[in-house]
Amino acid sequence: ESLVYCNNMSNALENMETSRDAKAIFDSNLTKQEGNITEVGEKEATVELRKNFQELQANPKDPSNYPEIRRSLIQIQQLNEMAILRKYDAVQKTSENAKFWLSIIFTILTLVSFIFIFNLPGVISNPISRLSEGITAIAKKEYQKRIYLQQDDEFGELANAFNEMAGKLDEYENSNLAQIKFEKTRIETIINQMRDGIVGLNEKKEILFMNAVAEKLLGLNEKDINGKYAPDIALKNDLMRTLLQDRPNTEELKIFADKKESFFTKETINVQIESQVIGQVIVLKNVTPFHELNEAKTNFIATVSHELKTPISSIKMSAKLLDDARIGTLSLEQEDLLQSIKDDADRLLKITGELLQMAQLETGHIQLKIQPTETQLIVNKSLQAAQSQAQQKNLRIRSNIDQSLPFVLADPDKITWVLINFLTNAIKHSPTNEGIEINVYKGDLGVNFEVVDHGLGISAEHLPRIFDRYYKVPNDQQISGTGLGLAISKEFVEAQGGNIWVHSEPGEGSRFGFSLKAA
Ligand code: ADP
Repeated sequence: ESLVYCNNMSNALENMETSRDAKAIFDSNLTKQEGNITEVGEKEATVELRKNFQELQANPKDPSNYPEIRRSLIQIQQLNEMAILRKYDAVQKTSENAKFWLSIIFTILTLVSFIFIFNLPGVISNPISRLSEGITAIAKKEYQKRIYLQQDDEFGELANAFNEMAGKLDEYENSNLAQIKFEKTRIETIINQMRDGIVGLNEKKEILFMNAVAEKLLGLNEKDINGKYAPDIALKNDLMRTLLQDRPNTEELKIFADKKESFFTKETINVQIESQVIGQVIVLKNVTPFHELNEAKTNFIATVSHELKTPISSIKMSAKLLDDARIGTLSLEQEDLLQSIKDDADRLLKITGELLQMAQLETGHIQLKIQPTETQLIVNKSLQAAQSQAQQKNLRIRSNIDQSLPFVLADPDKITWVLINFLTNAIKHSPTNEGIEINVYKGDLGVNFEVVDHGLGISAEHLPRIFDRYYKVPNDQQISGTGLGLAISKEFVEAQGGNIWVHSEPGEGSRFGFSLKAA
Protein backbone atom coordinates (compact mmCIF):
# COMPACT_ATOMS: atom_id res chain seq x y z
CA GLU A 1 0.00 0.00 0.00
CA SER A 2 2.87 2.39 0.83
CA LEU A 3 4.29 1.73 -2.64
CA VAL A 4 0.96 2.69 -4.18
CA TYR A 5 0.75 5.86 -2.06
CA CYS A 6 4.34 6.78 -2.93
CA ASN A 7 3.64 6.13 -6.60
CA ASN A 8 0.54 8.35 -6.44
CA MET A 9 2.50 11.04 -4.61
CA SER A 10 5.34 10.87 -7.25
CA ASN A 11 2.79 11.30 -10.04
CA ALA A 12 1.10 14.18 -8.15
CA LEU A 13 4.52 15.81 -7.62
CA GLU A 14 5.24 15.61 -11.38
CA ASN A 15 1.96 17.31 -12.09
CA MET A 16 2.15 19.76 -9.22
CA GLU A 17 2.76 22.78 -11.46
CA THR A 18 0.22 21.85 -14.11
CA SER A 19 -2.63 20.25 -12.17
CA ARG A 20 -4.64 21.85 -9.51
CA ASP A 21 -5.69 18.57 -7.94
CA ALA A 22 -2.14 17.29 -7.62
CA LYS A 23 -1.58 18.93 -4.29
CA ALA A 24 -4.76 17.44 -2.82
CA ILE A 25 -3.93 13.98 -4.23
CA PHE A 26 -0.45 14.27 -2.78
CA ASP A 27 -1.87 15.34 0.57
CA SER A 28 -4.44 12.57 0.78
CA ASN A 29 -1.90 9.89 -0.19
CA LEU A 30 0.56 11.34 2.30
CA THR A 31 -2.10 11.17 5.01
CA LYS A 32 -2.78 7.54 4.08
CA GLN A 33 0.94 6.80 4.17
CA GLU A 34 1.12 8.35 7.64
CA GLY A 35 -1.46 5.88 8.75
CA ASN A 36 0.38 2.97 7.17
CA ILE A 37 3.83 3.01 8.72
CA THR A 38 5.12 -0.49 9.07
CA GLU A 39 8.90 -0.51 8.64
CA VAL A 40 11.79 0.74 10.69
CA GLY A 41 12.86 4.20 9.40
CA GLU A 42 9.64 4.61 7.49
CA LYS A 43 8.22 6.95 10.12
CA GLU A 44 11.20 9.33 9.98
CA ALA A 45 11.10 9.35 6.16
CA THR A 46 7.35 10.08 6.22
CA VAL A 47 7.80 12.89 8.79
CA GLU A 48 10.57 14.29 6.53
CA LEU A 49 8.22 14.00 3.57
CA ARG A 50 5.46 15.87 5.40
CA LYS A 51 7.88 18.56 6.43
CA ASN A 52 9.18 19.02 2.86
CA PHE A 53 5.64 18.95 1.48
CA GLN A 54 4.63 21.69 3.92
CA GLU A 55 7.62 23.69 2.87
CA LEU A 56 6.65 23.16 -0.73
CA GLN A 57 3.18 24.35 0.01
CA ALA A 58 4.55 27.39 1.82
CA ASN A 59 6.84 28.20 -1.12
CA PRO A 60 5.42 26.63 -4.23
CA LYS A 61 7.94 28.48 -6.36
CA ASP A 62 10.89 27.01 -4.45
CA PRO A 63 11.99 23.99 -6.45
CA SER A 64 14.55 22.90 -3.90
CA ASN A 65 11.95 20.95 -2.07
CA TYR A 66 11.28 18.68 -5.04
CA PRO A 67 14.48 16.68 -4.70
CA GLU A 68 13.95 16.37 -0.96
CA ILE A 69 10.44 15.14 -1.47
CA ARG A 70 11.55 12.68 -4.14
CA ARG A 71 14.30 11.39 -1.92
CA SER A 72 11.83 10.82 0.92
CA LEU A 73 9.46 9.11 -1.45
CA ILE A 74 12.24 6.88 -2.80
CA GLN A 75 13.36 6.14 0.73
CA ILE A 76 9.88 5.09 1.73
CA GLN A 77 9.57 3.05 -1.43
CA GLN A 78 12.93 1.40 -0.86
CA LEU A 79 12.11 0.66 2.75
CA ASN A 80 8.91 -0.99 1.68
CA GLU A 81 10.48 -2.83 -1.23
CA MET A 82 13.14 -4.10 1.13
CA ALA A 83 10.47 -5.15 3.48
CA ILE A 84 8.62 -6.92 0.68
CA LEU A 85 11.74 -8.76 -0.28
CA ARG A 86 12.42 -9.65 3.34
CA LYS A 87 8.87 -10.79 3.91
CA TYR A 88 8.92 -12.76 0.72
CA ASP A 89 11.85 -14.69 2.14
CA ALA A 90 10.03 -15.12 5.41
CA VAL A 91 6.97 -16.30 3.54
CA GLN A 92 9.11 -18.74 1.64
CA LYS A 93 10.46 -20.08 4.88
CA THR A 94 7.09 -20.17 6.52
CA SER A 95 5.70 -21.98 3.51
CA GLU A 96 8.52 -24.53 3.73
CA ASN A 97 7.75 -24.95 7.41
CA ALA A 98 4.08 -25.22 6.73
CA LYS A 99 4.66 -27.89 4.09
CA PHE A 100 6.86 -29.78 6.50
CA TRP A 101 4.35 -29.62 9.35
CA LEU A 102 1.42 -30.34 7.08
CA SER A 103 3.17 -33.50 5.88
CA ILE A 104 3.82 -34.54 9.46
CA ILE A 105 0.24 -33.75 10.49
CA PHE A 106 -1.08 -35.57 7.42
CA THR A 107 1.06 -38.60 8.22
CA ILE A 108 -0.06 -38.56 11.86
CA LEU A 109 -3.70 -38.16 10.83
CA THR A 110 -3.36 -41.00 8.33
CA LEU A 111 -1.92 -43.21 11.05
CA VAL A 112 -4.66 -42.20 13.47
CA SER A 113 -7.26 -42.92 10.79
CA PHE A 114 -5.81 -46.37 10.26
CA ILE A 115 -5.82 -47.03 13.99
CA PHE A 116 -9.45 -45.97 14.14
CA ILE A 117 -10.44 -47.99 11.12
CA PHE A 118 -9.03 -51.17 12.64
CA ASN A 119 -9.54 -50.54 16.31
CA LEU A 120 -12.76 -48.54 16.58
CA PRO A 121 -15.10 -51.40 15.49
CA GLY A 122 -13.43 -53.62 18.07
CA VAL A 123 -14.21 -51.10 20.78
CA ILE A 124 -17.89 -51.26 19.86
CA SER A 125 -18.18 -54.74 18.48
CA ASN A 126 -16.40 -56.58 21.30
CA PRO A 127 -18.97 -55.73 23.97
CA ILE A 128 -21.79 -56.37 21.49
CA SER A 129 -20.47 -59.80 20.57
CA ARG A 130 -20.00 -60.61 24.27
CA LEU A 131 -23.57 -59.55 24.93
CA SER A 132 -24.86 -61.57 22.02
CA GLU A 133 -22.92 -64.62 23.29
CA GLY A 134 -24.55 -64.11 26.66
CA ILE A 135 -28.05 -63.87 25.19
CA THR A 136 -27.46 -67.04 23.15
CA ALA A 137 -26.37 -68.84 26.33
CA ILE A 138 -29.50 -67.68 28.17
CA ALA A 139 -31.62 -68.90 25.25
CA LYS A 140 -29.97 -72.30 25.77
CA LYS A 141 -30.89 -72.13 29.45
CA GLU A 142 -27.25 -71.71 30.50
CA TYR A 143 -28.19 -69.35 33.27
CA GLN A 144 -24.71 -69.45 34.86
CA LYS A 145 -23.39 -67.29 32.00
CA ARG A 146 -22.04 -63.87 33.04
CA ILE A 147 -20.50 -61.05 30.99
CA TYR A 148 -17.40 -59.32 32.39
CA LEU A 149 -16.86 -55.88 30.81
CA GLN A 150 -14.54 -53.50 32.67
CA GLN A 151 -16.17 -50.42 31.18
CA ASP A 152 -17.94 -47.52 32.79
CA ASP A 153 -20.00 -46.70 29.72
CA GLU A 154 -23.40 -47.88 28.52
CA PHE A 155 -21.94 -51.26 27.57
CA GLY A 156 -20.74 -51.75 31.11
CA GLU A 157 -24.20 -50.88 32.42
CA LEU A 158 -25.78 -53.26 29.93
CA ALA A 159 -23.43 -56.06 31.01
CA ASN A 160 -24.31 -55.44 34.67
CA ALA A 161 -28.03 -55.51 33.89
CA PHE A 162 -27.52 -58.73 31.92
CA ASN A 163 -25.64 -60.35 34.82
CA GLU A 164 -28.37 -59.35 37.22
CA MET A 165 -31.02 -60.86 34.94
CA ALA A 166 -29.01 -64.09 34.48
CA GLY A 167 -28.56 -64.30 38.26
CA LYS A 168 -32.31 -64.01 38.84
CA LEU A 169 -33.04 -66.60 36.13
CA ASP A 170 -30.45 -68.93 37.63
CA GLU A 171 -31.96 -68.54 41.06
CA TYR A 172 -35.49 -69.11 39.71
CA GLU A 173 -34.43 -72.09 37.64
CA ASN A 174 -32.59 -73.69 40.52
CA SER A 175 -35.41 -73.21 42.99
CA ASN A 176 -37.96 -74.49 40.43
CA LEU A 177 -35.81 -77.34 39.32
CA ALA A 178 -35.16 -78.49 42.83
CA GLN A 179 -38.86 -78.35 43.60
CA ILE A 180 -39.82 -80.16 40.41
CA LYS A 181 -37.15 -82.81 41.06
CA PHE A 182 -38.42 -83.29 44.57
CA GLU A 183 -42.03 -83.59 43.39
CA LYS A 184 -40.95 -86.02 40.66
CA THR A 185 -39.12 -88.21 43.17
CA ARG A 186 -42.11 -88.13 45.47
CA ILE A 187 -44.53 -89.15 42.71
CA GLU A 188 -42.14 -91.86 41.52
CA THR A 189 -41.87 -93.20 45.07
CA ILE A 190 -45.64 -93.25 45.46
CA ILE A 191 -46.11 -94.97 42.11
CA ASN A 192 -43.38 -97.47 42.92
CA GLN A 193 -44.82 -98.34 46.29
CA MET A 194 -48.26 -99.05 44.93
CA ARG A 195 -49.35 -102.66 44.86
CA ASP A 196 -50.85 -102.15 41.41
CA GLY A 197 -48.82 -102.25 38.24
CA ILE A 198 -48.69 -98.88 36.51
CA VAL A 199 -47.50 -98.11 33.00
CA GLY A 200 -47.52 -94.58 31.59
CA LEU A 201 -47.61 -93.86 27.86
CA ASN A 202 -47.47 -90.59 25.99
CA GLU A 203 -49.77 -89.65 23.13
CA LYS A 204 -47.43 -91.41 20.68
CA LYS A 205 -47.72 -94.62 22.71
CA GLU A 206 -44.13 -94.37 23.88
CA ILE A 207 -43.42 -95.68 27.35
CA LEU A 208 -42.85 -92.90 29.86
CA PHE A 209 -42.65 -94.83 33.10
CA MET A 210 -43.36 -98.16 34.65
CA ASN A 211 -43.40 -98.98 38.35
CA ALA A 212 -41.69 -101.90 40.04
CA VAL A 213 -44.85 -104.06 40.10
CA ALA A 214 -45.42 -103.52 36.37
CA GLU A 215 -41.74 -104.33 35.72
CA LYS A 216 -42.14 -107.67 37.53
CA LEU A 217 -45.43 -108.55 35.87
CA LEU A 218 -44.24 -107.69 32.38
CA GLY A 219 -40.80 -109.13 32.99
CA LEU A 220 -39.25 -105.93 31.66
CA ASN A 221 -36.82 -103.37 32.93
CA GLU A 222 -37.99 -99.78 32.90
CA LYS A 223 -34.58 -98.48 31.91
CA ASP A 224 -34.44 -100.71 28.83
CA ILE A 225 -37.83 -99.75 27.47
CA ASN A 226 -38.17 -96.14 28.52
CA GLY A 227 -39.14 -94.00 25.53
CA LYS A 228 -39.73 -97.05 23.32
CA TYR A 229 -42.82 -97.50 21.20
CA ALA A 230 -45.12 -99.75 23.24
CA PRO A 231 -46.62 -101.71 20.27
CA ASP A 232 -43.04 -102.71 19.33
CA ILE A 233 -42.56 -104.18 22.79
CA ALA A 234 -45.97 -105.85 22.56
CA LEU A 235 -44.67 -107.87 19.60
CA LYS A 236 -42.56 -109.90 22.03
CA ASN A 237 -44.59 -109.46 25.20
CA ASP A 238 -48.04 -111.06 25.49
CA LEU A 239 -49.09 -109.10 28.55
CA MET A 240 -48.12 -105.79 26.97
CA ARG A 241 -50.22 -106.80 23.96
CA THR A 242 -53.23 -107.42 26.23
CA LEU A 243 -52.65 -104.12 28.01
CA LEU A 244 -52.58 -102.16 24.76
CA GLN A 245 -55.85 -103.62 23.50
CA ASP A 246 -58.44 -100.87 23.33
CA ARG A 247 -61.46 -102.87 24.49
CA PRO A 248 -62.10 -102.71 28.21
CA ASN A 249 -60.84 -105.85 29.82
CA THR A 250 -63.51 -106.90 32.28
CA GLU A 251 -62.03 -110.33 32.73
CA GLU A 252 -59.41 -110.98 35.33
CA LEU A 253 -55.90 -111.49 34.02
CA LYS A 254 -54.18 -114.44 35.59
CA ILE A 255 -50.50 -113.57 35.75
CA PHE A 256 -47.73 -115.79 37.01
CA ALA A 257 -45.14 -113.47 38.43
CA ASP A 258 -42.81 -113.51 41.39
CA LYS A 259 -43.22 -117.30 41.71
CA LYS A 260 -46.94 -117.13 42.39
CA GLU A 261 -50.20 -116.81 40.55
CA SER A 262 -51.92 -113.45 40.89
CA PHE A 263 -55.05 -111.92 39.48
CA PHE A 264 -55.26 -108.48 37.97
CA THR A 265 -57.82 -106.32 36.28
CA LYS A 266 -56.78 -103.81 33.67
CA GLU A 267 -57.91 -100.21 33.66
CA THR A 268 -56.86 -97.71 31.02
CA ILE A 269 -57.10 -94.07 31.98
CA ASN A 270 -56.79 -91.42 29.30
CA VAL A 271 -54.79 -88.46 30.58
CA GLN A 272 -56.38 -85.30 29.27
CA ILE A 273 -55.56 -81.64 29.36
CA GLU A 274 -58.49 -79.52 28.25
CA SER A 275 -60.10 -82.38 26.32
CA GLN A 276 -56.85 -83.17 24.53
CA VAL A 277 -55.51 -86.66 25.23
CA ILE A 278 -51.82 -86.37 26.11
CA GLY A 279 -51.24 -89.94 27.14
CA GLN A 280 -52.51 -93.03 28.88
CA VAL A 281 -51.97 -94.63 32.23
CA ILE A 282 -52.57 -98.36 32.34
CA VAL A 283 -53.30 -99.66 35.80
CA LEU A 284 -53.04 -103.36 36.55
CA LYS A 285 -55.08 -103.65 39.71
CA ASN A 286 -54.11 -106.51 41.93
CA VAL A 287 -57.36 -108.28 42.81
CA THR A 288 -55.75 -111.42 44.17
CA PRO A 289 -57.05 -110.87 47.75
CA PHE A 290 -60.62 -110.38 46.41
CA HIS A 291 -60.15 -113.34 44.20
CA GLU A 292 -59.07 -115.46 47.15
CA LEU A 293 -62.00 -114.24 49.23
CA ASN A 294 -64.38 -114.94 46.37
CA GLU A 295 -62.94 -118.39 45.98
CA ALA A 296 -63.37 -119.04 49.71
CA LYS A 297 -66.97 -117.81 49.51
CA THR A 298 -67.71 -120.04 46.51
CA ASN A 299 -66.17 -123.04 48.23
CA PHE A 300 -68.12 -122.30 51.36
CA ILE A 301 -71.40 -121.96 49.45
CA ALA A 302 -70.68 -125.14 47.51
CA THR A 303 -69.92 -127.08 50.69
CA VAL A 304 -72.90 -125.71 52.62
CA SER A 305 -75.40 -126.20 49.81
CA HIS A 306 -74.07 -129.67 49.13
CA GLU A 307 -74.28 -130.59 52.83
CA LEU A 308 -77.81 -129.16 53.08
CA LYS A 309 -79.10 -131.11 50.10
CA THR A 310 -79.05 -134.49 51.89
CA PRO A 311 -80.99 -133.47 55.04
CA ILE A 312 -83.50 -131.50 52.95
CA SER A 313 -84.04 -134.49 50.69
CA SER A 314 -84.62 -136.71 53.75
CA ILE A 315 -87.08 -134.14 55.15
CA LYS A 316 -88.90 -134.32 51.82
CA MET A 317 -88.79 -138.11 51.93
CA SER A 318 -90.14 -138.17 55.50
CA ALA A 319 -92.93 -135.75 54.58
CA LYS A 320 -93.84 -137.95 51.65
CA LEU A 321 -93.92 -141.00 53.93
CA LEU A 322 -96.08 -139.16 56.45
CA ASP A 323 -98.49 -138.35 53.66
CA ASP A 324 -98.86 -142.08 52.95
CA ALA A 325 -102.14 -143.44 54.37
CA ARG A 326 -100.39 -146.73 55.22
CA ILE A 327 -98.36 -144.95 57.89
CA GLY A 328 -101.46 -143.52 59.45
CA THR A 329 -104.19 -141.01 58.71
CA LEU A 330 -103.69 -137.34 59.40
CA SER A 331 -106.11 -134.76 60.65
CA LEU A 332 -106.81 -131.78 58.36
CA GLU A 333 -104.55 -129.46 60.43
CA GLN A 334 -101.77 -132.07 60.28
CA GLU A 335 -102.18 -132.27 56.49
CA ASP A 336 -101.88 -128.48 56.22
CA LEU A 337 -98.74 -128.50 58.35
CA LEU A 338 -97.30 -131.33 56.27
CA GLN A 339 -98.01 -129.37 53.07
CA SER A 340 -96.16 -126.33 54.35
CA ILE A 341 -93.21 -128.59 55.37
CA LYS A 342 -93.20 -129.95 51.80
CA ASP A 343 -93.37 -126.43 50.27
CA ASP A 344 -90.58 -125.13 52.48
CA ALA A 345 -88.45 -128.20 51.78
CA ASP A 346 -88.99 -127.62 48.02
CA ARG A 347 -88.03 -123.99 48.36
CA LEU A 348 -84.96 -124.89 50.37
CA LEU A 349 -83.98 -127.48 47.82
CA LYS A 350 -84.42 -124.93 45.04
CA ILE A 351 -82.26 -122.41 46.87
CA THR A 352 -79.51 -124.90 47.69
CA GLY A 353 -79.68 -126.16 44.10
CA GLU A 354 -79.20 -122.62 42.75
CA LEU A 355 -76.37 -121.92 45.16
CA LEU A 356 -74.64 -125.14 44.23
CA GLN A 357 -75.08 -124.48 40.54
CA MET A 358 -73.66 -120.98 40.91
CA ALA A 359 -70.70 -122.31 42.88
CA GLN A 360 -70.08 -124.90 40.19
CA LEU A 361 -70.32 -122.24 37.48
CA GLU A 362 -67.84 -120.03 39.31
CA THR A 363 -65.34 -122.79 39.79
CA GLY A 364 -65.88 -124.02 36.25
CA HIS A 365 -67.06 -127.39 37.46
CA ILE A 366 -70.24 -127.43 35.43
CA GLN A 367 -70.32 -129.60 32.36
CA LEU A 368 -72.79 -129.19 29.56
CA LYS A 369 -74.13 -132.04 27.46
CA ILE A 370 -75.10 -130.16 24.34
CA GLN A 371 -77.15 -132.13 21.85
CA PRO A 372 -79.92 -131.54 19.28
CA THR A 373 -83.05 -131.13 21.36
CA GLU A 374 -86.71 -130.82 20.43
CA THR A 375 -88.23 -127.45 21.42
CA GLN A 376 -91.54 -129.02 22.32
CA LEU A 377 -89.80 -131.30 24.81
CA ILE A 378 -88.17 -128.33 26.60
CA VAL A 379 -91.50 -126.49 26.79
CA ASN A 380 -93.44 -129.52 28.00
CA LYS A 381 -90.99 -130.40 30.77
CA SER A 382 -90.95 -126.80 31.99
CA LEU A 383 -94.73 -126.51 31.91
CA GLN A 384 -94.98 -129.71 33.91
CA ALA A 385 -92.60 -128.43 36.57
CA ALA A 386 -94.27 -125.03 36.91
CA GLN A 387 -97.84 -126.23 36.65
CA SER A 388 -98.60 -126.78 40.34
CA GLN A 389 -97.15 -123.35 41.27
CA ALA A 390 -99.27 -121.71 38.58
CA GLN A 391 -102.35 -123.46 39.78
CA GLN A 392 -101.87 -122.13 43.30
CA LYS A 393 -102.29 -118.61 41.92
CA ASN A 394 -104.88 -119.66 39.39
CA LEU A 395 -102.65 -118.61 36.50
CA ARG A 396 -103.13 -119.99 33.04
CA ILE A 397 -99.98 -120.69 31.04
CA ARG A 398 -100.55 -120.65 27.30
CA SER A 399 -97.88 -121.86 24.94
CA ASN A 400 -97.60 -120.67 21.33
CA ILE A 401 -95.13 -122.80 19.50
CA ASP A 402 -94.50 -122.25 15.78
CA GLN A 403 -94.88 -125.33 13.68
CA SER A 404 -91.93 -126.98 11.94
CA LEU A 405 -89.28 -125.50 14.20
CA PRO A 406 -85.85 -127.10 13.95
CA PHE A 407 -84.22 -128.94 16.82
CA VAL A 408 -81.98 -126.69 18.90
CA LEU A 409 -78.43 -127.26 20.13
CA ALA A 410 -78.80 -127.40 23.91
CA ASP A 411 -78.22 -129.27 27.11
CA PRO A 412 -81.87 -130.35 27.70
CA ASP A 413 -81.66 -130.29 31.51
CA LYS A 414 -79.95 -126.93 31.75
CA ILE A 415 -82.17 -125.19 29.20
CA THR A 416 -85.29 -126.65 30.84
CA TRP A 417 -83.97 -125.28 34.13
CA VAL A 418 -83.71 -121.81 32.51
CA LEU A 419 -87.25 -121.94 31.14
CA ILE A 420 -88.60 -123.16 34.50
CA ASN A 421 -86.78 -120.27 36.16
CA PHE A 422 -88.42 -117.81 33.74
CA LEU A 423 -91.81 -119.41 34.41
CA THR A 424 -91.47 -119.45 38.21
CA ASN A 425 -90.34 -115.80 38.13
CA ALA A 426 -93.35 -114.93 35.94
CA ILE A 427 -95.64 -116.78 38.34
CA LYS A 428 -94.09 -115.10 41.37
CA HIS A 429 -94.52 -111.64 39.87
CA SER A 430 -97.98 -112.07 38.34
CA PRO A 431 -101.19 -111.19 40.15
CA THR A 432 -103.63 -114.09 40.67
CA ASN A 433 -105.95 -115.12 37.86
CA GLU A 434 -103.66 -113.68 35.19
CA GLY A 435 -102.28 -115.32 32.09
CA ILE A 436 -98.70 -116.22 31.17
CA GLU A 437 -97.54 -117.01 27.65
CA ILE A 438 -94.69 -119.09 26.36
CA ASN A 439 -93.81 -118.12 22.79
CA VAL A 440 -91.42 -120.22 20.78
CA TYR A 441 -90.64 -119.00 17.27
CA LYS A 442 -87.95 -118.80 14.62
CA GLY A 443 -85.26 -116.20 15.37
CA ASP A 444 -82.07 -114.81 13.80
CA LEU A 445 -79.86 -117.29 15.59
CA GLY A 446 -82.20 -120.28 15.38
CA VAL A 447 -85.10 -120.51 17.80
CA ASN A 448 -86.32 -117.91 20.31
CA PHE A 449 -88.06 -118.82 23.57
CA GLU A 450 -90.01 -116.14 25.40
CA VAL A 451 -91.99 -116.04 28.65
CA VAL A 452 -94.42 -113.14 28.84
CA ASP A 453 -96.21 -112.14 32.01
CA HIS A 454 -98.58 -109.30 32.88
CA GLY A 455 -97.25 -108.61 36.32
CA LEU A 456 -95.62 -105.57 37.91
CA GLY A 457 -92.78 -105.31 35.44
CA ILE A 458 -89.33 -103.95 36.17
CA SER A 459 -88.32 -100.27 36.03
CA ALA A 460 -85.59 -99.24 33.60
CA GLU A 461 -83.04 -98.42 36.32
CA HIS A 462 -82.95 -102.05 37.49
CA LEU A 463 -82.98 -103.72 34.09
CA PRO A 464 -79.21 -103.47 33.41
CA ARG A 465 -78.42 -105.32 36.66
CA ILE A 466 -81.15 -107.93 36.51
CA PHE A 467 -78.78 -110.66 35.29
CA ASP A 468 -76.15 -109.87 37.97
CA ARG A 469 -75.48 -112.45 40.66
CA TYR A 470 -77.47 -111.97 43.87
CA TYR A 471 -79.26 -108.95 42.41
CA LYS A 472 -82.89 -108.54 43.41
CA VAL A 473 -85.09 -105.57 42.58
CA PRO A 474 -85.26 -103.69 45.90
CA ASN A 475 -89.10 -103.69 46.07
CA ASP A 476 -89.18 -107.44 45.59
CA GLN A 477 -87.13 -108.22 48.67
CA GLN A 478 -90.13 -109.83 50.37
CA ILE A 479 -90.55 -112.26 47.45
CA SER A 480 -88.38 -115.26 48.22
CA GLY A 481 -85.37 -115.95 46.04
CA THR A 482 -81.61 -115.81 45.99
CA GLY A 483 -81.23 -113.41 43.10
CA LEU A 484 -79.22 -116.09 41.35
CA GLY A 485 -81.79 -117.58 38.96
CA LEU A 486 -81.30 -115.10 36.12
CA ALA A 487 -77.52 -115.02 36.59
CA ILE A 488 -77.35 -118.80 36.28
CA SER A 489 -79.74 -118.66 33.31
CA LYS A 490 -77.49 -116.19 31.52
CA GLU A 491 -74.42 -118.36 32.11
CA PHE A 492 -76.25 -121.47 30.88
CA VAL A 493 -77.68 -119.82 27.76
CA GLU A 494 -74.40 -118.17 26.80
CA ALA A 495 -72.46 -121.39 27.44
CA GLN A 496 -74.81 -123.03 24.91
CA GLY A 497 -74.04 -120.34 22.33
CA GLY A 498 -77.28 -118.42 22.82
CA ASN A 499 -78.40 -114.95 23.89
CA ILE A 500 -80.63 -113.87 26.74
CA TRP A 501 -82.74 -110.71 27.07
CA VAL A 502 -85.48 -108.93 28.91
CA HIS A 503 -88.03 -106.30 27.94
CA SER A 504 -90.14 -104.90 30.70
CA GLU A 505 -92.45 -101.97 31.40
CA PRO A 506 -93.47 -101.21 34.97
CA GLY A 507 -97.16 -101.97 35.36
CA GLU A 508 -97.40 -103.84 32.08
CA GLY A 509 -95.36 -106.97 32.66
CA SER A 510 -92.11 -108.52 31.54
CA ARG A 511 -90.90 -110.48 28.57
CA PHE A 512 -87.87 -112.68 29.32
CA GLY A 513 -86.37 -114.54 26.40
CA PHE A 514 -83.43 -116.49 25.09
CA SER A 515 -82.32 -117.76 21.73
CA LEU A 516 -80.62 -121.00 20.84
CA LYS A 517 -78.82 -122.13 17.75
CA ALA A 518 -80.65 -124.48 15.43
CA ALA A 519 -79.14 -127.93 15.41
P1 ADP B 1 -84.82 -114.84 42.26
O1 ADP B 1 -84.38 -116.23 42.46
O2 ADP B 1 -84.64 -113.96 43.44
O3 ADP B 1 -86.10 -114.70 41.56
P2 ADP B 1 -83.72 -114.09 39.75
O4 ADP B 1 -82.31 -113.96 39.33
O5 ADP B 1 -84.49 -115.14 39.04
O6 ADP B 1 -83.71 -114.29 41.30
O7 ADP B 1 -84.38 -112.72 39.55
C1 ADP B 1 -83.74 -111.55 39.97
C2 ADP B 1 -84.73 -110.45 40.26
O8 ADP B 1 -85.36 -110.04 39.04
C3 ADP B 1 -85.87 -110.86 41.10
O9 ADP B 1 -85.55 -110.68 42.46
C4 ADP B 1 -86.96 -109.94 40.68
O10 ADP B 1 -86.87 -108.76 41.40
C5 ADP B 1 -86.69 -109.67 39.27
N1 ADP B 1 -87.53 -110.44 38.32
C6 ADP B 1 -87.23 -111.62 37.74
N2 ADP B 1 -88.24 -112.02 36.94
C7 ADP B 1 -89.21 -111.09 37.04
C8 ADP B 1 -90.52 -110.94 36.44
N3 ADP B 1 -91.01 -111.82 35.61
N4 ADP B 1 -91.24 -109.83 36.77
C9 ADP B 1 -90.74 -108.90 37.61
N5 ADP B 1 -89.50 -108.99 38.21
C10 ADP B 1 -88.77 -110.08 37.90
